Amino acid sequence: MGRLALLLFLVFAALLILRALRLLLATFFQARPRDGPPVSIEGEMVRDPICGTWIDRRLALAARSGEEWVPVCSEKCRARAAAGPNDPGQARADRAGAKGP
Ligand SMILES: [Zn+2]
Repeated sequence: MGRLALLLFLVFAALLILRALRLLLATFFQARPRDGPPVSIEGEMVRDPICGTWIDRRLALAARSGEEWVPVCSEKCRARAAAGPNDPGQARADRAGAKGP
C-alpha cells in the first residue's frame, strides 16, 4: 500500500512539473516580442516628395534635392529631384498631363 501511495505521489509530482514548465515556456515566448524592437519599423514607409508615392524605406533611392537627400521611387524621380524641387514649368506640365486631354 505504501508503494502505491508513493507511485501516485510521483505521478502527480511529474504532472505538476510539466504544468509548471509549460507555463514558464508560455510566458517566455509571450514576453519575447515585447522585448525586441517594434515590428512596424522594419517595413517603414517614406514618401517620395517628387511624385507623392509611398515606398518602403529599404527600397527607396536617394536623390539630391537642393541641399538635402530625399527618398525617391525611381530613376525618373531622381532626375526630377536633381533638376530642382520647385521647378514650376515641370510641375505645371505634370499637372496638365495628369488631368488628361
Ligand atoms: Zn516617384
